[in-house]
Amino acid sequence: RWITLEGGDGSGKTTQSDLLASWLSETGHEVVRTREPGGSEVGQLIRDIVLHHRGDIAPRAEALLYAADRAHHVATVVRPALERGDIVLQDRYLDSSVAYQGAGRVLDATEIRDLSLWAAEGALPDLTVLLDLDPQTARTRLDSADKPFDRLEAEKAEFHGRVRDAYLALAAAEPERFLVIDASSPVDVIAGEIRARVASFLA
Ligand code: C5P
Ligand code: MG
Repeated sequence: RWITLEGGDGSGKTTQSDLLASWLSETGHEVVRTREPGGSEVGQLIRDIVLHHRGDIAPRAEALLYAADRAHHVATVVRPALERGDIVLQDRYLDSSVAYQGAGRVLDATEIRDLSLWAAEGALPDLTVLLDLDPQTARTRLDSADKPFDRLEAEKAEFHGRVRDAYLALAAAEPERFLVIDASSPVDVIAGEIRARVASFLA
């Protein structure tokens, strides 16, 4: 089983991933936690470029870097774990690319999705949790966190607005794969909603 977490920067993916991973482990499941970009050694190198390069990266080059990270990650980390029967709990996957490289950078959403599917040989998660939050609230959360420079988090408000809208459109197009959650709810309420859905699909 493969679960991905999606949402804008500052929507609380890491917190919820921590909580879900603990709960899954406590209930006796083998859990592999991973993320994109950067879920493999090659991916770490790519992550460093896409997040820390100080200057523009041509949108198509950036899209290809994310796709390269994804191709290597799915082939060397995700597929082997799924074949062992582990639960893969992953921060960000191809929906991030459609939202950020597609809507954010204004590339064609279908092309970005097709590129990702080619990279991942068509692999799609069983469940995608979308933590939906308005970019204003997310901004306030990020500004109060003490973290190093991140070129994407520094993008303008309109960029993050387009990202949010794209995520919601993706969820509406694939309601069976997506669980959309109001990320302004209390942490434990969100964790409960996610657990309920995960429990029903593991049963
Ligand atoms: O989720 P995480 O904080 O690790 O993501 C790192 C950064 O990469 C975020 O700021 C996110 O906006 C950006 N990103 C992106 N396109 C992706 C995945 C992540 O722009 N496909
Ligand atoms: Mg971040």
